[in-house]
Amino acid sequence: MDFNDTAEQAAFRAEIREWLSVNATARQPNQGVQDLGSVFRRAKEWYKKVYDAGYACHTWPKEYGGGGRSQIEAVIWSQEVANYAEPDGYFVIGQGNCGPALMALATEEEKRRLLPRMASAEDVWCQLFSEPGAGSDVAGLRTRAVQADDSDWRINGQKIWTSGAQFSQYGVILCRTDPDVSKYRGLTMFYIDMEQAGVEVRPIVQMDGGQHFNEVYFNDAVVPDSWRLGEVGGGWSAALTVLMNERMAISGVQPNGFSEFLQFCLSAELADGPAIDDPVVRDRLADWYCKDAGLRNANSRMLTAISQGGIPGAEASLGKLVGAAMNQEIANFVLQEIGPEAAVCDEQFAAMQANFQKAILFSPGIRLAGGTDEVMRNIIAEQVLGLPQEPRADKGIPFCDIPTGSSS
Ligand SMILES: Cc1cc2nc3c(=O)[nH]c(=O)nc-3n(C[C@H](O)[C@H](O)[C@H](O)COP(=O)(O)OP(=O)(O)OC[C@H]3O[C@@H](n4cnc5c(N)ncnc54)[C@H](O)[C@@H]3O)c2cc1C
Repeated sequence: MDFNDTAEQAAFRAEIREWLSVNATARQPNQGVQDLGSVFRRAKEWYKKVYDAGYACHTWPKEYGGGGRSQIEAVIWSQEVANYAEPDGYFVIGQGNCGPALMALATEEEKRRLLPRMASAEDVWCQLFSEPGAGSDVAGLRTRAVQADDSDWRINGQKIWTSGAQFSQYGVILCRTDPDVSKYRGLTMFYIDMEQAGVEVRPIVQMDGGQHFNEVYFNDAVVPDSWRLGEVGGGWSAALTVLMNERMAISGVQPNGFSEFLQFCLSAELADGPAIDDPVVRDRLADWYCKDAGLRNANSRMLTAISQGGIPGAEASLGKLVGAAMNQEIANFVLQEIGPEAAVCDEQFAAMQANFQKAILFSPGIRLAGGTDEVMRNIIAEQVLGLPQEPRADKGIPFCDIPTGSSS
């Protein structure tokens, strides 16, 4: 395991530190829920600057709008940009998940047409996999694509939790094209125009006031056959390409709340004196310090593998499982320590308290997104520990015969 940058990596880190210090916006105290439209416009302006400077999509080939750099340089960029307040989360799903799927499955002409616009954030993309009855078990999805006379496909059904659909020009969508074969073999993947008739996007209001994701309804939406990604019936392996890249995208440094907690311990005055003198606080500090150190070391191990050309394994699942839960536990603990004032913005705690308030409202979602805690545990159990697979009652049965409801 290597904790240090090579000379080349250190030079790249210094170069982007310098560029970010001039071009990126410094972190500000939490400003509460802001107007989504203006945050989105600012994100697009910021990303255009990133693209023009040659720092967009580091690992993509230059002819598709990328930087032609290594995975480790992409990780260094995400570590450094995380110190600033730039809202480029709108483009992560397109560039992190959909882009690599196009790279693997689209024609050369499509790649040259679509990828540079995705890299510069001129076009925003979303990922339309989850449905009301198919989240963890995404292969159980029911949105139908039916082809008329070997040409266009018509799409009918509903997706849910689609991040950023309200801002998207395109989406990558997984549909059921054959309900008479097993659930994994009857799926096909397409990309779709999100601004056409027959696509209705309804934002979902979250408990923190934001509108991160949407319900999306398809009512005879049309997709040309040339927009199919992979073979008819080959949607599951195409989806695994997207999901593997999602794991890569979330495998960077996950915020787990520890540095904010440390700052709280060192600076807060509680009713009985300084927080750092409180035995309960000290006990939690030791516990979370150990977890944070473990996560950092696991992350360094993963970065070492990446820098040697490998891809992240189950470490990404481990990081998400431990880090997301820790983030939520820390926010709960701190707000309880502050007491009733935690519900409002107490002057002494104002800036740090706002962070914990935000974490308490959004961290439950992070424990679900990209695979829930339980799904992460299943992955670790089966793929790392080699434990037996859990029983799969629907294995090998045609989708239309799975006894969980109607198949149409
Ligand atoms: C912030 C956020 C952003 C998202 N963005 C997108 C997006 O852009 N595109 C998209 O397609 N989806 C997106 N999702 C959806 C996400 O992928 C699903 O929420 C997730 O896969 C879980 O599915 P579900 O919500 O249907 O829960 P379910 O799968 O219904 O799970 C319900 C409960 O059952 C448990 N469970 C399920 N299966 C098992 C099992 N085999 N063993 C043990 N326990 C199990 C789960 O852990 C959970 O507690 C997003 C979700 C969030 C929270």
